[in-house]
Amino acid sequence: MPEKESIKITEVGPRDGLQNEYKPVSTSDKFEFIRLLGLSGIQCIEATSFVKPGAIPQLSDASVLSEKLNFQSGITYSALAPNKKGYETAIQFGYREIAIFTAASNSFTKKNINKTIQESIEIFLDISKQAVLDKIKVRAYISTVVACPYEGIISPSSVLEVAKQLLDQGVYEISLGETIGVAVPNQVEDLLTTLFGKFSPSLFAGHFHDTYGMAIANAAKSLEMGIRSFDSSAGGLGGCPYAPGAAGNVATEDLVYFLENSGYSTGIDLNKVMDASAFISQKIERNLISKTYLALQSRCESVALS
Ligand code: MG
Repeated sequence: MPEKESIKITEVGPRDGLQNEYKPVSTSDKFEFIRLLGLSGIQCIEATSFVKPGAIPQLSDASVLSEKLNFQSGITYSALAPNKKGYETAIQFGYREIAIFTAASNSFTKKNINKTIQESIEIFLDISKQAVLDKIKVRAYISTVVACPYEGIISPSSVLEVAKQLLDQGVYEISLGETIGVAVPNQVEDLLTTLFGKFSPSLFAGHFHDTYGMAIANAAKSLEMGIRSFDSSAGGLGGCPYAPGAAGNVATEDLVYFLENSGYSTGIDLNKVMDASAFISQKIERNLISKTYLALQSRCESVALS
């Protein structure tokens, strides 16, 4: 049998997911969540963010949490660094991969980080020059790649323009953030056709949100067009700040179920991801809404009853 093609999954639950959860989670519970995620076979975990203390209360323990991580474990832990200071702090803790953040919409970067796209790219230029010297891998997020909550539809050429500048700076992967989860596959196709006219699909990852239940359809379209890297969060952790009560990031369980049953390999044990999801669900005192998580959980319960 031919070997299955493997797909990279970056678990963003501890950072992107928890950032959008209201109930505060203690550092030791975050660490346990990350430990359980690691046991599931996930190889890349975005652990936290080194934003200004107080900017995101849920992530204000970035230093204490990072001190507990074992950077020799074989799992790649990454952290978000909004500026050079955040970058320097992160690498002191042992991170070998940093994520930087911008958007394809000026209104969004202005509201989110109080900078224009261009200003944010200039800050990252500073980080990426240092990262080359330090041999640190830099991954970039571009948010609002299809639509922006303030500007509406974003043209693929705007995304291409930002992507070009980030790739020129030496980022090894761009995560395409469909921040508000409104896109449908045709829009994703238009975006990727524009990007892949200039760049290889291997330079991009899909970061979909399930606000309208389209995340897996969009991941399937991206996969068909050559994307082999996706972001997800356990149980679909995290909501959408622009649509209170709506679903958050695509769930790791849904993505793994889809990929593994479509003939790809993720190296991830679904049942073990569910252990991590069940744990964090208790801590945030909220039921998770991943369809795969719910289906497998109720199957386990009905087997236990019979
Ligand atoms: Mg997200």
